[in-house]
Amino acid sequence: MTVPSEVTASSGSTEDLVADHVLEFPGGYTRTTGPVIGRFLTELRDGRIVGVRTADGRTLVPPLEYDPQTGEAVTGEFTEVGPAGTVESWSWVNEPRAAHPLDRPFAWALIRLDGADTSLVHAVDAGDARAMRPGLRVRPRWKTSRSGHITDIESFVPEVTKIVSPVRMEYRVRPGRALARFLEGVARGVFLGCRCGSCHKVYVPYRLSCPQCGVAISEEVELPDTGTITTFAINNLPDPRAPQVPFVSAYILLDGSDIPMIALVGDVPAHEVRQGMRVRAVWVPEEERTASMSNIKWFAPTGEPDAEL
Ligand SMILES: [Zn+2]
Repeated sequence: MTVPSEVTASSGSTEDLVADHVLEFPGGYTRTTGPVIGRFLTELRDGRIVGVRTADGRTLVPPLEYDPQTGEAVTGEFTEVGPAGTVESWSWVNEPRAAHPLDRPFAWALIRLDGADTSLVHAVDAGDARAMRPGLRVRPRWKTSRSGHITDIESFVPEVTKIVSPVRMEYRVRPGRALARFLEGVARGVFLGCRCGSCHKVYVPYRLSCPQCGVAISEEVELPDTGTITTFAINNLPDPRAPQVPFVSAYILLDGSDIPMIALVGDVPAHEVRQGMRVRAVWVPEEERTASMSNIKWFAPTGEPDAEL
């Protein structure tokens, strides 16, 4: 970039000279609107936004008396547009001035109202600059008392596209015969499994048929409450059953069983949990037990050396 020499020469002495001016017509300045702008403002006063058709069928919003593309007079045919529209571009105003429509940070935006072929400049009360984006859907927020002025629309506001709704389900589970039998065991502090008479695999929780052989199972096996962690996951979202966040849920192979069961792991920092870790169930006190898995708070390390997997 080249700098003219006279600017360079004078900049040292004139840079600090500043004079503030205000150009204002304090009482306002009366002008007639003409039929096209007049119609637009009258409709605004009545809570509607209209555009005007051009000879080639486009809709100008705000309406103009002449088509800026062709210079031809518009048709005089008005059509209601919006009131919702889409933000095309914007400029964020961090420090509103006294004459601005809002006294908090807002955006001046180019808004293409639905049905319009041109865009209108207006304020968008988005709360935060990060809420602004091209394509943001907005709607006018009207003043309750209107006079036929563009400020009859106080500002545009984003459409509601997201709500937080509480989710709650209440349901009752009736265990089948197998689960009922397993929970009877849990109620007295033991894990009940079963052994398949055909493949000799031991399953826990207790079940009535072998998933591999398909045969009915009749041999019940009482398993100890110790086992080995085979795989685990560290969870970073809170769970009412878990001791803290992060917490660990793991597949635990109870001693004597061939199929791991899923349970929480507690009394150990999440990052210390590992595959092969030996664990024992931590039961709630006997007087608090019911026929439910909540009898087992979690599995805690036993301190034994890790098992080979
Ligand atoms: Zn089997």
